[in-house]
Amino acid sequence: MRILVVEDDAELNRQLCDALVAAGYAVDSSKEGEDAHFLGEAEPYDAIILDIGLPGMDGITIVEKWRADGHNMPVLMLTARDRWSDKVSGIDAGADDYVAKPFHMEEVLARLRALIRRSAGHASSEITVGPVTLDTRQSRVTMDGEAVKLTSHELRLLSYLFHHHGEVVSRSDLIQHLYDQDFDRDSNTIEVFVGRLRKKLYPEVIETVRGLGYRA
Ligand code: CA
Repeated sequence: MRILVVEDDAELNRQLCDALVAAGYAVDSSKEGEDAHFLGEAEPYDAIILDIGLPGMDGITIVEKWRADGHNMPVLMLTARDRWSDKVSGIDAGADDYVAKPFHMEEVLARLRALIRRSAGHASSEITVGPVTLDTRQSRVTMDGEAVKLTSHELRLLSYLFHHHGEVVSRSDLIQHLYDQDFDRDSNTIEVFVGRLRKKLYPEVIETVRGLGYRA
């Protein structure tokens, strides 16, 4: 899952990015409103964390513009603690949820997981495909009840395919959703990770759909 973090406070931006990377997300970041608006239009993020007070263009205007242009990615707004009117404006503008500052990182991560799950149509925090279960809260995978150890890249790939269970996902979609902007998009990494997942889990856990992509 690829996330955009928009926050002009450099320290807070860095903390959010670090926590998201540690949680297994691919992360892009922006500290300026116009730039953030452009990135949200141009890149297929699975969710966006958006501060309200930003230089260039404020968060409310940004989310309004995205929604007006038909971009439906989940948006989690960061609001000032006592500004209840910000929360109302944010939700009215098209944000999906908000967290008031100062926040606990765990709360941001939990709300983000819930937004991503719901936008993929999953109400529960566990996604089961055949004998394999992904616990999105713990980032843990079990097969027939036994824990399976995956690297963060393997987990990202499996998580994206499980969130889109039953759908064919193209290789280029996977690259766009699993890696940040600086990733070498010509590499064969996806094939390598699919191979490893088949070995660690079972060969049919990910199906290759010839010419189209992969399906879990
Ligand atoms: Ca701010």
